[in-house]
Amino acid sequence: MSFKHKKKYGQNFLTDQDEVLDKIMEVSGVTSEDHIIEIGPGEGALTGLLLQEAAKVTCIEIDTDLEKILRKKYSTNEKFNLVMGDVLEVDINPLIEKKAKVVANIPYYITSPIINKIIDNRDKIDEMYVMVQKEVAERVCADSGKERSILTLAVEYYGEAEYLFTIPKEFFTPAPKVDSAFMSIKFYGDRRYENRISEELFFKYVKAAFSNKRKNIVNNLATLGYSKDEVREVIEQLNISGNERAENLTIEEFINLAEIFEKKKK
Ligand code: SAM
Repeated sequence: MSFKHKKKYGQNFLTDQDEVLDKIMEVSGVTSEDHIIEIGPGEGALTGLLLQEAAKVTCIEIDTDLEKILRKKYSTNEKFNLVMGDVLEVDINPLIEKKAKVVANIPYYITSPIINKIIDNRDKIDEMYVMVQKEVAERVCADSGKERSILTLAVEYYGEAEYLFTIPKEFFTPAPKVDSAFMSIKFYGDRRYENRISEELFFKYVKAAFSNKRKNIVNNLATLGYSKDEVREVIEQLNISGNERAENLTIEEFINLAEIFEKKKK
């Protein structure tokens, strides 16, 4: 009997999609040293390839109907480790001895919580390669322009994101409503921005700057309790025009801006 896909678990599989799976393997550059965490292995289409290349593959899957299928295929492979449960509940840290990489076609209904969870575990995970909705990948990886958002900055604070390739919806079984994209986030080993400004302060300025998309940076930052003249003075030091909008500022400009405002307060 064939497997009945469950919409509630975001089950859009890459069954018999050798071309896409090979491309995923090629761009994620899995080596025989790597411990891979695969979130949502499904019926194991990608798992088999990961097991061929990696030192160890730990899969986290919520759907108990898939357990038998996965164990039947891979339990004799000593590199294979299956953890049944909700990825958002599972404590990932103890599953990793030294370092790991995430390579996965994740369930889209929890894309942001999964990315946040991996960011929280960046002590042990240095790179992630994930399939997400195309629109999400475009927003996360936007270098400039309207697509830049708090999400873009939230990722840039911890690492470097890259849009790798697009996968049209027809490649999945069943086909989802939207196209997908494979992207990577490589965490900065030197914590370059975290060392300059705390997460809390960084997000305070970023959220204020994006608080009203129609307003410019001066008006938005003034909502933090500074006068418009004070804001202008700071952003002029950084050669940013007062009419600029948050989406046109780089991460470096945000970090500089937060540092200057915080120094002013001391
Ligand atoms: N990797 C497989 C493939 O490419 O064919 C399946 C990908 S499918 C988009 C997402 C997978 O994540 C499904 O197997 C689904 O059951 C699983 N999943 C959904 N919610 C989950 C959760 N909260 N924790 C762990 N796995 C989950």
